[in-house]
Amino acid sequence: MSTPTFTDTIDENHADAIERATADLAIEHWIDGRSSADGETFETVDPAVADPITTVARGDADDIDSAVAAARSAFDEEWRETTPQERSQYVHEWTAELRDHLDELTLLESLDTGKPLAYARDELTEALEQFEYYAAVAQAHEGSQLPQGADNHVYTRSEPYGVAGQILPWNYPLSLFGWKTGAALSAGNTVVCKPSEEAPLSITRAAQLSENILPDGVLNVVNGYGEEAGAALTDHAGVDKLSFTGSVPVGREVMAAGADQITPVTLELGGKSPYVVFPDADIEQAAETSASGIFYNTGQSCDACSRILVHEDVHDEFVDAFVETAEAWEPGDPLADGTTMGPLTFDDQHEKVSNYVDVGREEGAELILGGDGSAGIESDDGYFFEPTVFDDVDNDMRIAQEEIFGPVQCIITFADYEEAIELANDVEYGLASGVATQDASTAHRAAAEIEAGSVWINEYHGGGVGIPFGGYKASGIGRECGKDTLDEYTRTKSVNVALDDPLS
Ligand code: NAD
Repeated sequence: MSTPTFTDTIDENHADAIERATADLAIEHWIDGRSSADGETFETVDPAVADPITTVARGDADDIDSAVAAARSAFDEEWRETTPQERSQYVHEWTAELRDHLDELTLLESLDTGKPLAYARDELTEALEQFEYYAAVAQAHEGSQLPQGADNHVYTRSEPYGVAGQILPWNYPLSLFGWKTGAALSAGNTVVCKPSEEAPLSITRAAQLSENILPDGVLNVVNGYGEEAGAALTDHAGVDKLSFTGSVPVGREVMAAGADQITPVTLELGGKSPYVVFPDADIEQAAETSASGIFYNTGQSCDACSRILVHEDVHDEFVDAFVETAEAWEPGDPLADGTTMGPLTFDDQHEKVSNYVDVGREEGAELILGGDGSAGIESDDGYFFEPTVFDDVDNDMRIAQEEIFGPVQCIITFADYEEAIELANDVEYGLASGVATQDASTAHRAAAEIEAGSVWINEYHGGGVGIPFGGYKASGIGRECGKDTLDEYTRTKSVNVALDDPLS
């Protein structure tokens, strides 16, 4: 008998897992407290084996109409009258139900995106913490009283918009659902969510698990393609607030649609975030931190540090350390214990990343690690890609300016502090950044001068519950994850009451 190859094992593992995960699963829309679908479907694919997982309802403008109508009725008839405490109880009860189904949701997320199981679980746990955070802080979100003298009583009310339309990407499906839906619902809005067509499973299942917990119509999910269901949602006159996470080109379209209806828009877009290694940095630590900053989630993170700017004096030492660390990020079966890097999430992603490796070579950057689109895994299936490192990158090259969204690192050298800051800011994006230094003044000066919504000093991916996250420049508008996010889902009303003379 021959020894099973990696391919045999992974195929068997995944066939079993898909059967288990989908035995009782119907991925339709979730509208007005029930599943609905009218026939048209598409498939979602497991990227580790390139096999279909299940079919998904393909929504269109009619489904969006139904979802917006359900969300509107739920807002007008019930949700707008609830107190923050009542909404908090609803959200907590739903979160407890999601926590009871953590294993099921984790498996769906891993199969749908290719995330290693352990990471999928951590991300889902954080999503639940986001729900709980918003349910808690929304209770302290309040208006104010404005002193205007004895003859007037002036106060502000913080009121929800009504129906929030939320469009999500595929790279952190349930996490970002926690960011957006947790805030919108807790602030008193009802929601119509359009998950990515590439990763709809966990969100749809989470919505199903709100059955008999959230009032019907408070949370609605319409599956489908961006140009169909997504555009119908952004164009819909019944949507009072739009929140979009995804690419810059689609973000522009969403913003234009918002402009037509004068609908406020939150945009969380892409990045080309720098990680700056100053000459006094702890080089080992900087290498490990910046490796996880790019290779976590197979490089498919909006805030991935996809450009390393390293001082010329420590370039060689840093590159040696970085390559050694990068080699440890070995692609493997996302369902197997110990895997740190799964496949890219779908075929076009794989092609896009491969193309960028060709572009880097043609532009004259030096490929010093990886570049192999099959990641050495002997399979025609599965969208694996090995950790890839380009040295000698010029910041003007396309690989340094464009979001590759894969496990590809670009190393750029600088000569002094001023050049480091100039290079860090010389991209259209401004989402995140990292700084490695042991000097407090350098750290704080750089933090002030880098144009990005987040600066992480001697760490990377230092976000989390309660810490505002969002972009400068083309990386977006608005903040998520913090208590300010509630302001994105509420509007302020001033009430001015003229006071009569007191009764004598
Ligand atoms: P994408 O822009 O292709 O799609 C995002 C969503 O928009 C999907 O649900 C898609 O169906 C929908 N969509 C597509 N065309 C549409 C249209 N015309 N009208 C309305 N909706 C439409 O992005 P993606 O490939 O899913 O995600 C990757 C991008 O998301 C990257 O650029 C990444 O940096 C960004 N991202 C940003 C953050 C952040 O917080 N800043 C977080 C995660 C991902």
